[in-house]
Amino acid sequence: MNVSPGDRPAVGYFWNRELAGHDPGYRCLEKPIRCQVLDPANILGDSGGVHRSFLARESDLPALVHHPDHIAAVREAHQQGRRSLDAGDTVVTADVFDQALLAASAGCDAADQVLRGDLSAAFCAIRPPGHHANRVRSFGFCIFNNAAIAAVYAQTTHGVGRILIVDWDVHPGNGAQEIFWEDPSVFTLSFHQDDLFPESGRADLVGEGAGQGTNRNVPMRRFIDPEEYRDLFDRTVGEVAAAFRPELLIIAAGFDAHRQDAAAQFLLQADDFAALTRIVLDATRPFTGGRTLSFLEGGYDPGALRESVAAHFRELAAGCGPG
Ligand SMILES: [Zn+2]
Repeated sequence: MNVSPGDRPAVGYFWNRELAGHDPGYRCLEKPIRCQVLDPANILGDSGGVHRSFLARESDLPALVHHPDHIAAVREAHQQGRRSLDAGDTVVTADVFDQALLAASAGCDAADQVLRGDLSAAFCAIRPPGHHANRVRSFGFCIFNNAAIAAVYAQTTHGVGRILIVDWDVHPGNGAQEIFWEDPSVFTLSFHQDDLFPESGRADLVGEGAGQGTNRNVPMRRFIDPEEYRDLFDRTVGEVAAAFRPELLIIAAGFDAHRQDAAAQFLLQADDFAALTRIVLDATRPFTGGRTLSFLEGGYDPGALRESVAAHFRELAAGCGPG
């Protein structure tokens, strides 16, 4: 399909006020204010993007990726009086299942609208985040793996073949790495700080079986120069995209590599996230036609998050939208 930039549909911004209702408590970094500062009124500006709200889908949606025991554990955690779904970070609230299901539903609505051509790309400003959740457990604030669910949904519902997941959250994207470990149809590529969950972010983890060679980790040292980060990102993404030729790009977009974020020791700023967006869109567009689904993962400083998401979305709209 040849589509000139002027004919391209808009880029969607998926956000629901209800997702501010998920409140793991004042001690948790993953706070309702993350949703509030990402109100579309703060982000869309003159980007040309359009706001989309969404409803929860059927309760078996997470089964696209997660084991039934994990889904049951999330559903029943509150009744059982559990306080956490992991060693402590992933706090159980009364409505944890409903909130996580609503978040995961956004990605499938976004996939439908992008893959039918109603939108050219989408950003899902959702919480709880997903990239640490693997097939059988929640971890690190993440209940269900929103990006992985959208990937499998895009394949099973829309017949998409190869999908590239690029994760630039400052922590390793261990969830998708484990979920697609032996799956050659989904390439998982994670950029992260090398001493945060170091085991799951090791560079020698490359996948296994049929999936050998379709996982790549790029651990980087604390305080890496943003220029050096960008260069490494540019080279790696270009190489992976050219070899893998993805039909759909998914971004696990955490913003906790921002210099103001207390979760890590990276030095990126909003402009850097705009640059990463531009780089990954340019590298994948020849294969994807611009079809991109981006998901909010981490990012815990409200001001830095708002500014970084606005910068990311502006680039997404400029790179994929009507232009
Ligand atoms: Zn993170």
